[in-house]
Amino acid sequence: MTRKPFRLGLTGGIGSGKSTVANFLAEAGAAILDADAISRSVTQAGGRAIPAILAEFGPSMITPEGALNRDAMRALVFSKPDSKRQLEAIIHPLVGQILQAQTETAIAQGQSCLVFDVPLLVESGERWRRQVDAVCVVDCQTETQIQRVMARSGLSRAEIERIMAQQATRAQRLACADFVILNDGIDLAQLKQRVHEMWLSFGL
Ligand code: ATP
Repeated sequence: MTRKPFRLGLTGGIGSGKSTVANFLAEAGAAILDADAISRSVTQAGGRAIPAILAEFGPSMITPEGALNRDAMRALVFSKPDSKRQLEAIIHPLVGQILQAQTETAIAQGQSCLVFDVPLLVESGERWRRQVDAVCVVDCQTETQIQRVMARSGLSRAEIERIMAQQATRAQRLACADFVILNDGIDLAQLKQRVHEMWLSFGL
């Protein structure tokens, strides 16, 4: 019989270093399941959410290539906030199904640790908390987040602050954490070391 794997929810604010931590965990031997990547894939051209989005919102929300028209959807959500919930009602169950299938595959492969990379884990309330054994928060100072995202994306400080204002606060995230990776004032080699120490503490 296959042993039940350890399920870790990995989260953190924009630019905190989640993807980098996920990569180090993968190197250590974890299977990474990326909720955002799945969410993007179902809204790409030919994605599984496209027929329902077309039926619910009409052709103006679909690009000529057949993907979700993100600009049009952003404008709609701005003018009709309820449409965000309607869109999520289409996307979330599909993401859930695909994650479930990926989880079953990882278990069948005998993986001992499944890492669910979920940027908005804390914001989702109990929905995600119930599905994992522990939560790891990648934490850093707000200013560090802003500097990293500005360097990476070319977004302005104001745009990044707007995104951060829609995310949970540091304190809210830390209140949900079983493990905290403090990713401030350290280089990537030191971050890798911290991730490795956490990995060893799982005792897998
Ligand atoms: P997002 O939520 O925007 O996807 P994220 O939390 O996944 O971001 P990463 O993509 O892992 O964050 O990191 C953001 C950027 O900061 C990357 O370019 C990464 O290489 C860099 N970075 C993260 N941690 C460190 C560190 N300790 N030292 C140097 N660079 C770092």
